Amino acid sequence: MELEGRWRDLDYLLTRQGNVVGPGFEPGPEIREFLHNDCRVLVVGAGGLGCELLKDLALSGFGNIDVIDMDTIDVSNLNRQFLFRMQDVGQSKAEVAARRIQQRIPGVTVTPHHCMIQDKALDFYEQFHVIVLGLDSLEARRYMNSVACSFLEYDEEGQPDLATVKPMVDGGTEGFKGHARVLIPGVTPCFECTLWLFPPQTKFPLCTLAETPRSPAHCIEYAKIILWPKERPDDSFDADCEEHMKWVYDKALARAAEFGIQGVTYQLTQGVVKNIIPAIASTNAIVAAQCTLEALKMVTMCSTGLNNYMMYVGTDGVYTLTTPYERDDKCPICSAGITFEVPPSTTLQQLIDQLVADPDLGKHLSAPSVSYGSTNLFMRGALEAQTRPNLEKPISDLVDGDGSIVHVNDRKLVAAMKIRLKFSGSTNGTMEM
Ligand SMILES: [Zn+2]
Repeated sequence: MELEGRWRDLDYLLTRQGNVVGPGFEPGPEIREFLHNDCRVLVVGAGGLGCELLKDLALSGFGNIDVIDMDTIDVSNLNRQFLFRMQDVGQSKAEVAARRIQQRIPGVTVTPHHCMIQDKALDFYEQFHVIVLGLDSLEARRYMNSVACSFLEYDEEGQPDLATVKPMVDGGTEGFKGHARVLIPGVTPCFECTLWLFPPQTKFPLCTLAETPRSPAHCIEYAKIILWPKERPDDSFDADCEEHMKWVYDKALARAAEFGIQGVTYQLTQGVVKNIIPAIASTNAIVAAQCTLEALKMVTMCSTGLNNYMMYVGTDGVYTLTTPYERDDKCPICSAGITFEVPPSTTLQQLIDQLVADPDLGKHLSAPSVSYGSTNLFMRGALEAQTRPNLEKPISDLVDGDGSIVHVNDRKLVAAMKIRLKFSGSTNGTMEM
């Protein structure tokens, strides 16, 4: 069943030429048919952003949507995760969201996956044309980033092979702030390229708390961080204990009075102590709309895509800024290979030790395995005994020569890190065996 005029607005985009269409765009009704029948999109996360994304994608003509989320519905979700009802509490978010979308939007198939993202094999992720992330954790984003980048291959000239590019769109919100970004592995920066965008959580300097408090949050932190261990050294603070929270609140209130600071409330105390940032429904809606539009542009080319990071700030009025961030050539996840210089006499064990000790590369590694082409040079687990003798051999005996690329794998990584070996001070004599 088709509602009269249902696709009128979409058809304006897909059946007409324009000045800002993407490369190779050929307008016509078959694009909408592709979108509805053949295009596969995966939504990762069925929470605040995920509900909005599913609704937006389904209403934008995507006919086959998969959604993955390991969470179950909590009563506190109901104010903004609008696909869920009171009777759904305790059920799988992915399953309920999929059912509701199918009930409300005819002709759409939504397939739920109630599991962890790590539970799915790589070929599960490979089947999608585009992956849209509605996540709230950096770790999950990094995981999905390494999944998408694991498909990427480079040609002889070091250009990304476009057939292996798995595009993603990422949305994120924090209170009244949000972002949408496109991640095209090998073309735009991946998560690891711009990891500095996610600063560690801000903590106030202790001297400010102790000497010059200026905000209600300073007073609350003072009570929690400085007064609690001093006055109640035998109790470990429990954020879920009302008496403990009340104690911190009272102390913070006294501190605020002393310095003439207004605004310490019990609710703020809870927020600061538990580090709670309120989820704002309108921010989710705005960010999800942008993400959906980018996904639509990616698979239809009806317009050029976002380049490549849009931030939205709704704290005072509405402000957005788009920034073209740049790739990091040395990114261990999405680059064609990181050059690593060693003397050719370096043993495989020494090479592994140096990689783990490297300030940039080491943070991705704990107990790496190394392979060269289809040869396992050193593997952990079942092949360890068999490959262990290689550890004592010079690396130049194990690879073809200067410029060889070895693959380094680690349980911290999904995609292998590509290391291009550069032999320092090498002569051909030491390389050829
Ligand atoms: Zn990268």
